[in-house]
Amino acid sequence: MHDVIIIGGGPAGLQAALTLGRMHRSALLLDSGEYRNGTVLHMHNVIANDGTPPSVFRETARAQLSEYAGIEVRSLAAEHVSAEAEGQFAVRLADGTTAIARRLILATGMADDLPDVPGLGALWGVKAFSCPFCDGHEHADKPIAVLGAAERAGHLLGLLGRIASSITAFPIGTTYTDDERRALEVAGARVSDSPVREVADAASGGVSVVTDDGTSEVAGVFVASGTLRQRAPFAEQLGLRMLPSGAVEIDDFGRTSVLGVSAAGDLAHRAALPGPMASVIAAAAAGQLAAVGMVQSLMGS
Ligand SMILES: Cc1cc2nc3c(=O)[nH]c(=O)nc-3n(C[C@H](O)[C@H](O)[C@H](O)COP(=O)(O)OP(=O)(O)OC[C@H]3O[C@@H](n4cnc5c(N)ncnc54)[C@H](O)[C@@H]3O)c2cc1C
Repeated sequence: MHDVIIIGGGPAGLQAALTLGRMHRSALLLDSGEYRNGTVLHMHNVIANDGTPPSVFRETARAQLSEYAGIEVRSLAAEHVSAEAEGQFAVRLADGTTAIARRLILATGMADDLPDVPGLGALWGVKAFSCPFCDGHEHADKPIAVLGAAERAGHLLGLLGRIASSITAFPIGTTYTDDERRALEVAGARVSDSPVREVADAASGGVSVVTDDGTSEVAGVFVASGTLRQRAPFAEQLGLRMLPSGAVEIDDFGRTSVLGVSAAGDLAHRAALPGPMASVIAAAAAGQLAAVGMVQSLMGS
């Protein structure tokens, strides 16, 4: 039996494994290979790793984990989790076997459901983004587009207005209302009269944004619509208490509402926050805290 099974091999799960390994606890880390930044070529706002490809970050982390005898990393999906006898959890794996541990850390992240704009999926993470902190600076002094929901578009304008040279807001599906249009213009945007029909790679290296009125070229697009959902079904399978954001509720040490189960990274946050603070550093920090909490709870066993 392992001390801990960690489901998730992004920054949260990898850091949790490192902390457990250093405290000579045994842990099995499972990774199905579905990362939130899976299409991203270079991650930013990660100190000492600004511009590092996420794949290199993960490879380096795995190489470092291989130095710790108690840590086993498997590129394998978990399919089902259940609480068994007291202090024991069973995880059914995609190869048909079952792994058992005293504790569980869920670090399975969130998945982005993009709005229905043809071409957007192919640009996601490369020329289409949602986080100004992650990808805004790369568009300094260049024209960009903001796509979709007026309220979130206004928020993006507030963050990106001092970085980009100009910002055009394009509605999705239908036109903006007069009030929405005015608010976006006051926030500094040019506002398209017609909804975006499709986006595509432009020969110039930027993005073509196509509407019924014509085509505009911008350096990149930021998506103001779209939703987040739990990547994996384990929070539901365990009956964890959830927050209005769709994330798992945790305390300061990542503990969930079920004893022995912690959660770290994008999939969870404290109730005091409006949503997950989605970033590589925040996820890794949460993974470390969750692992520290586990080490404390395992003391004496
Ligand atoms: C387009 C884009 C660009 C971004 N750019 C940046 C950036 O530049 N800088 C930055 O700090 N942040 C960036 N982010 C945010 C960052 O990617 C996330 O905050 C971070 O990856 C969260 O880490 P995590 O460990 O919680 O989840 P993830 O990195 O999503 O990892 C989830 C893990 O769970 C595993 N998993 C899921 N289901 C299962 C299962 N059933 N069995 C086994 N394993 C499973 C996955 O395989 C994966 O290993 C970006 C996000 C997006 C969408």
